[in-house]
Amino acid sequence: MAQYDLVHQFKELRAPDVTFASGTTNALYIGQFQWSDSSTPSNFTMFAFREQEPNTDSRQEDYMVCHLIREEGQKKSVDEIKASLKQSVHIRSDVNGLGIQVQLFEKASKIFFGEESVLTDCLNQLHLEIARNKTSFKNEIAVDDFFVAKFMFAIDKRVQRWLKSCERAVNSRNEVNDNILNFDDVIKHVLNGTFTMTLPPTFSKVKMETTEKKDAESKHKGGEGEEGKGRKKRKSEDGKGTGVANPTQPAEFKLTAGENWKENFSGILTQDRPAWNDKIRMCARWHIKGDCFDNCTRKESHVTNDKVGDDKRASMKNFLAKCREEIAKKKSA
Ligand SMILES: [Zn+2]
Repeated sequence: MAQYDLVHQFKELRAPDVTFASGTTNALYIGQFQWSDSSTPSNFTMFAFREQEPNTDSRQEDYMVCHLIREEGQKKSVDEIKASLKQSVHIRSDVNGLGIQVQLFEKASKIFFGEESVLTDCLNQLHLEIARNKTSFKNEIAVDDFFVAKFMFAIDKRVQRWLKSCERAVNSRNEVNDNILNFDDVIKHVLNGTFTMTLPPTFSKVKMETTEKKDAESKHKGGEGEEGKGRKKRKSEDGKGTGVANPTQPAEFKLTAGENWKENFSGILTQDRPAWNDKIRMCARWHIKGDCFDNCTRKESHVTNDKVGDDKRASMKNFLAKCREEIAKKKSA
């Protein structure tokens, strides 16, 4: 419910394509705005609000990810932390992407803290400054792949300090140190070429060599080691099929931020997958992951969006909801 409401509020602010890192709405709903772990972003963070990408499987270039830690109200066990570290978000690395992130975060601030909030105001200023100094930002990005992530992290850190200051101010609003949100000096460092920031190990770069990005991303667990290996061109399990992509994957079946095919759907509730006809079930991989193989036993159901009837669409949506419930159950168990 909170999720729907938040999407709706973003829509009202003319940001219809926003998506949230999984766990974000739950955390914010219970008032958990501060990072769960003070060393790395989670909960109310610029990294959690993003513009929906047309197709998460179509990335051709290397990209940055940040593994967000989820909390969802209870204390985490080591296993939970490990599981939550797999919740990764893709970070845009260009100046326009940065602008969008700042804008979305500003809208989030408007929703949670109001139009008049000093945070909303400062983020608005920040966005203007970035637009005004685009060239300087571009120059920094050209020499540092991690620049956008670093810059966002720097802003995020300030916002967290401010939230802490708000929390401590028990007697009066005057106790809050709003100077923390003056981003002028961060901008100045960028313009002077002296901006530096060390990212925690939860940030990592995923190198792309092949079409199999999602798998590489899930291969690459918790940010250590694995990245960069890439994978050879995708083959089916028996090695004989060739990969085929679903060119018109229905938006409502797509993986949402933080989900990945392997962990959230592959092999989950297979008996509940909707039937395509009396012989086969609908190929979940084709419809949910957006690709499959030309020798798939459910190949018949590899159809374009317009050929998915209303009843099948509804059953598939039900199935997606069921899987999500199942995963949530497992996580909280
Ligand atoms: Zn298939």
